[in-house]
Amino acid sequence: MKNLLKLFFFALCLALSSLAIAQDMDWKKATNYDKTAAKKQLIQRFTDYVTFDTQSNDQSTTTPSTPGQLKLAKALAKELKKNGATQVRVDKNGIVTALIPANQPTSAPTIALLAHMDTAMEVSGTNVKPQVHTNYAGGDIVINAEKKLILNSTNAPQLAFAKGHDIITASGNTLLGADDKTGVSIIMTLVQYLYDHPSFKHGPIKIAFTPDEEIGTGITHFDVPGFGADYAYTFDGSDIGQLTTENFNAKSFTVVFEGNRAVHPGEAMNSPFSDNLLMASDFHTLLPRQQRPETSAGRRGFILVDSITTDQNRSEINGIIRAFSDEEMNQLVAEVTRAFNTVKAMNYKGTGFSLSFKDQYKNMKAFLPQKVVDIASMAMTQEDISPRINAARGGTDGAQLSLAGLPTPDIFSGQYNIHSPLEYADVDVMEASLRTALRLVWLWGLQSAPMK
Ligand SMILES: [Zn+2]
Repeated sequence: MKNLLKLFFFALCLALSSLAIAQDMDWKKATNYDKTAAKKQLIQRFTDYVTFDTQSNDQSTTTPSTPGQLKLAKALAKELKKNGATQVRVDKNGIVTALIPANQPTSAPTIALLAHMDTAMEVSGTNVKPQVHTNYAGGDIVINAEKKLILNSTNAPQLAFAKGHDIITASGNTLLGADDKTGVSIIMTLVQYLYDHPSFKHGPIKIAFTPDEEIGTGITHFDVPGFGADYAYTFDGSDIGQLTTENFNAKSFTVVFEGNRAVHPGEAMNSPFSDNLLMASDFHTLLPRQQRPETSAGRRGFILVDSITTDQNRSEINGIIRAFSDEEMNQLVAEVTRAFNTVKAMNYKGTGFSLSFKDQYKNMKAFLPQKVVDIASMAMTQEDISPRINAARGGTDGAQLSLAGLPTPDIFSGQYNIHSPLEYADVDVMEASLRTALRLVWLWGLQSAPMK
């Protein structure tokens, strides 16, 4: 009975909200949206934020892992205050949070927009010098002639769809930081937009900028209940229309083989000699070749051995398993177990055998209410963008947040060739992402708070 009642209310909410959408309340009409002005702001912000060196460092024991991230955090907090945000805070881990209060009487849920401030470890983020290539005419884009760093149709195939767009690159000695300063710029431009256009009605919106996404540690300090959002979106993705609603399930495993190599090899036959090093290499060889990272793409998972360490009588193997479905994960766990048991059976003189698995993160799909995906898709569709549902072949901050109770899919933000000197941002795709974000908060403002 209780469920029936819930269902009835849910249907009522849906009917009411679609009624509201059907009314002519287009935010562009209400605010005279100006694409050129929006692009100008995005470029201004982005080219400023990338000059902050926010490269994270996995050898650091602090959060944020580098002081540059705190500098950017403070600058963003200042800018948020200037543009009407309240409850602006930078906590001791460098996490920036703020509230854009609702500007209408509303029972709408609180939605959150997130991006990360740090940049990848692979390439330096010191002294980034952005170059804006306006009105891309097609053909190659020279980033650095001396270093022969050139974007072309092979290393940047999506440029084929970027004619007339503004493209931003670095200058050859660094990465750009499009990952994820595109996301930061889009969200900050939205904040200013809402401040400048009070006729744009919306519900409560929370903002967060997080450190150390690239080394996976920043989000572990995020206080989900304290943040108080019902649903969230990260803006940390690539091409137009990309909507990431899935990521890998991830496990790690540790195998230990103990043997007895303290025997003179000349006298090893008919002795207690047992070779833990051979056991480790046999185990590695027995793992399925058709489910390695280099033989798997799309929705297919993999097993990878990360390290094999050996001292005299003990060999330890550390590896990872990645799979989208629980079914495939179970199958890959069974493959690892089978290889382990085979080695064990072949080496009866071994002195110790152990195998253990550890959960790392989960596919967020299981924790995403359909409505969170549907409203993001609708926001894109209403901006004439075809949503492309994407499954990330890795983990995301959103996955950790979803698991912790804050459903958080990811929306495209116009970053390409990330973690490399060939990284670039497409300002027109950033602008499409900004319109998606504005449409998103508009649509959420018409919804009712979740029934708990
Ligand atoms: Zn990122």
